Amino acid sequence: MSETDDLRALMEADRWLDRVGSQKTHLPETAELAALEVELRAQLKVLNEAQAALAPVRSAYEVTQREGNRLRARAESLDKTLSSSTANSRELAALQTEVQHVRELLERSDDLELEYLIAVEPLDEAVNAVKAAAQPAVLRRSEIQAAIVELHASLDEELVALRASRVEKCAALAPELLKRYEAALARAGTSGASQIVSGRCDGCRIALSPLDLDRWKGQPEGAFMNCPECGRLLMP
Ligand SMILES: [Zn+2]
Repeated sequence: MSETDDLRALMEADRWLDRVGSQKTHLPETAELAALEVELRAQLKVLNEAQAALAPVRSAYEVTQREGNRLRARAESLDKTLSSSTANSRELAALQTEVQHVRELLERSDDLELEYLIAVEPLDEAVNAVKAAAQPAVLRRSEIQAAIVELHASLDEELVALRASRVEKCAALAPELLKRYEAALARAGTSGASQIVSGRCDGCRIALSPLDLDRWKGQPEGAFMNCPECGRLLMP
């Protein structure tokens, strides 16, 4: 293999590394996940609002329900006392008045409980509807999260193999040329060398001036002048 071939092999290795690396950082799944999270945050806001509307009505309903139970128990206990009472007529009359009073309170409390129950239902449905609407996105999110973990693992494996092969490609180059290549890579990114295709550097895609093109053509074998634009080592 010529020096140019060795240099080209290293350039290809770096271009692969770059491609796989940017594949990893630009996964369509990552973009989808970000979009889903925006959607879910919006749904969470709606859910919080629906829950905030429900909470006071439900708690009022529960208070009324407890009060109803208390009054019912009180009425029952008074009824029992009345039916087994050996009290005198004045005490009986007082008991009856109390039973009547408790029954009136109970009736009012039952009406109120029913009103709250009717008010709770649609609010409860609204909360459940928001939860149901978010469900597909929640499921999709965990699917995508799992897919991303898997993709990252397989791309990382590929990167490890590519880096190992890059080490071999580096070892094939003369130290001086490798030093120039690494310097160009550090400056330009992606790769430290590029090819002239139809008068253009295929690294930065800039056309060489006729003067630079002549200079490049006239350089001795293995000279690899730097691209005047991006600094990469120019190869045929
Ligand atoms: Zn260039």
